Amino acid sequence: MISKPRGTMDIMPEETPLWRFIENTVRETASKYGYEEIRTPTFESTELFARGVGDSTDVVQKEMYTFEDREHRSFTLRPEGTASVVRALIENGRCSDAMPLRLYYLISCFRYEKPQAGRSREFFQFGTEMFGSADPSADATVISLANEIIGSLGIKDAVLHINSIGCPECRPGYRKALVDYFTDYSGELCDSCRERLKTNPLRILDCKSPVCSEIAKKAPKMIDYLCGECKDHFESLTEYLSSMGIRYEIDPYIVRGLDYYTRTVFEFISGSIGAQSTVCGGGRYDGLMKELGGPDLPGIGFAMGLTRLILAMKASGAELPASAAPAVYFCTMGKEAVKYALSKVAVLREKGIYADCDIVGRSVKSQMKYADKIKARYAVVIGDNELQAGKAVLKDMIQGSSKEVELKELWKEFV
Ligand code: ATP
Ligand code: MG
Repeated sequence: MISKPRGTMDIMPEETPLWRFIENTVRETASKYGYEEIRTPTFESTELFARGVGDSTDVVQKEMYTFEDREHRSFTLRPEGTASVVRALIENGRCSDAMPLRLYYLISCFRYEKPQAGRSREFFQFGTEMFGSADPSADATVISLANEIIGSLGIKDAVLHINSIGCPECRPGYRKALVDYFTDYSGELCDSCRERLKTNPLRILDCKSPVCSEIAKKAPKMIDYLCGECKDHFESLTEYLSSMGIRYEIDPYIVRGLDYYTRTVFEFISGSIGAQSTVCGGGRYDGLMKELGGPDLPGIGFAMGLTRLILAMKASGAELPASAAPAVYFCTMGKEAVKYALSKVAVLREKGIYADCDIVGRSVKSQMKYADKIKARYAVVIGDNELQAGKAVLKDMIQGSSKEVELKELWKEFV
């Protein structure tokens, strides 16, 4: 027996209607906000992520699926979507299109992580990116898109956490304050955080280890170190969110895992899906486009993990879509009946009706059982008598009642 790679999943037919429902919901909502879909390659040059995500991040340091092709070039299965979108815009000369540029994607991502509930090695993301506006009203709009999606999916307990992580102007001062603070505890920090203290102290705030997160609770807060412009930006954002009726909590310790964020960062956190509780994470990345060789265009986006959305929907008791079931199932007796049923089913399908008939050659009794099993709404038994009379009995499989119908008029029952 060959089994699937650890940390991957098979999404079986009874689950796919739910996945499709989520996919349709995010697509439709994003369209209403002026977003268009973009598709980029599943793998990219490793350098794109090293530069775009950041050399010192966990994603680049520990989590990438990197391989050499036959020509010894280094490629990586995408661990996230933003860097590819930025590359594609630059490469396709789209950075001077009308602003803002708004793009979304539904992709699988790959990260070498410890698989657990809500965390896998291949996972699915819905992501959006907006370029060309540094204004806080853009931040509010992006957050409102995420908020609307979460609401439309029936997720009730996701709380919006927002923070500002400043800009290259004010972050160095904060960084210094953090280093001073954490250096006093360097003996107690986990190995990774002791390393982060040198390379990327902000990331310590993001550490999941109980000791580090306890120490981080009293760390200096970025909001107290924001420069005037970052402070204004953040204040305007909170005003806009309030005016849109979007509730938020200011969470001074949200930093986000990737290096390219500036100013606004946000997460939607669900209280009922366990340790992997961030259903949506996003923020502003004003330096990324330039970092990757493009013009100096500000950007802001977010990504949602589909598995976590599903966990949160289930935890909220959201109504889950069911698999499609036939409107009618023809049970047949004899070859003439099979001929009739095959042609009738074809006509019904042409009219957009899900109809089915026996194609296994079962007994009528087993056919009825099968019709019940696949939750057919109606069943009709067709034999010589029915064909001759041009009439048959239509059985309502939910109510158990039956009625006689003209075969010619049968289709009317299902429209
Ligand atoms: P986490 O804090 O859970 O590690 P992250 O900060 O690494 O998340 P992002 O890179 O911001 O996550 O990805 C955006 C979203 O994608 C997350 O909020 C989450 O819903 C989802 N996600 C990230 N990594 C995984 C994974 N390994 N398995 C499933 N979903 C994931
Ligand atoms: Mg992560």
